[in-house]
Amino acid sequence: MKLLEGKNAVIFGVANNRSIAWGIAQAFHEHGANVGISYAGEMMEKRARPLAESLGLTFVEPCDVSKDDDITAVAEKAKAHFGQVDILVHAIAFAPREALSGDFHQTSREDFRVALDISAYSFIGLARAFLPILRPGASLMSMTYYAAEKVVPNYNVMAIAKAALENITRYLAGDLGKHGVRVNAISAGPIRTLAAAGVSGFRGLYKRFAEVSPLRQEITIEDVGGAAVFLASDLSSKVSGEILYVDGGFNIVAIAEDSPDAGGEGGE
Ligand code: NAD
Repeated sequence: MKLLEGKNAVIFGVANNRSIAWGIAQAFHEHGANVGISYAGEMMEKRARPLAESLGLTFVEPCDVSKDDDITAVAEKAKAHFGQVDILVHAIAFAPREALSGDFHQTSREDFRVALDISAYSFIGLARAFLPILRPGASLMSMTYYAAEKVVPNYNVMAIAKAALENITRYLAGDLGKHGVRVNAISAGPIRTLAAAGVSGFRGLYKRFAEVSPLRQEITIEDVGGAAVFLASDLSSKVSGEILYVDGGFNIVAIAEDSPDAGGEGGE
């Protein structure tokens, strides 16, 4: 059953075939949506364009979300191409590399500004620019991570950006509901992507994840794509302001069970 037939979707954050945005683009396409993708700028075009061509997507546009003019331009292009938009996906994050390792208290004012601007504020900017062309019933979504709530080593300023992004998601949901627009976030478990590689020690975190999470499995971009289809579709038409965890249940665990081969003290 195709859940997104007749819906127009614009997805921000395709860097390569490992991007969560790409997993979402593929899932939306499979479910019959007219999909458009946006990439950060010239450097990213090399990879984004062939991916788009592989699915026959014709809306493939640059947008550096740190620039208001780029945001305005991409919304105008979306209007010209789609007329109206039903789904907008924000799968964008950036912080200078030096801010994603070492002591959190060393975070500089400038790195804080850049991380919050690109990874959090941009969701407000995109929502505002697209609002005039959003169809009632439209669904917006952002991508967050558990470090917004609990301390994860080295995630540092990006955790602060994710906390802001989650609250922006709620505030946009509160604000845009009167326009019939829903706004939600997906909180994904660790996935090996370009952005994740920028976080010092990510590999270790990723390795242990499948041992600790209740479902004992790694998270894939296809897993996130499936959840995004639900949030984009009319099946979730009364869901707004929520954080949907796609993490195999990791966020409910307080203390991990010993793995069977870990030894342990035994019973009485
Ligand atoms: P990715 O590197 O594939 O995607 C990040 C995207 O942000 C890239 O396409 C990059 O070009 C884009 N970007 C950076 N600066 C930009 C700018 N100025 N303007 C426009 N775009 C810009 O990595 P990803 O893991 O797919 O990240 C997508 C989202 O998912 C991010 O918000 C990330 O924080 C979130 N997320 C990732 C994980 C994970 O483990 N990979 C887990 C939870 C949430």
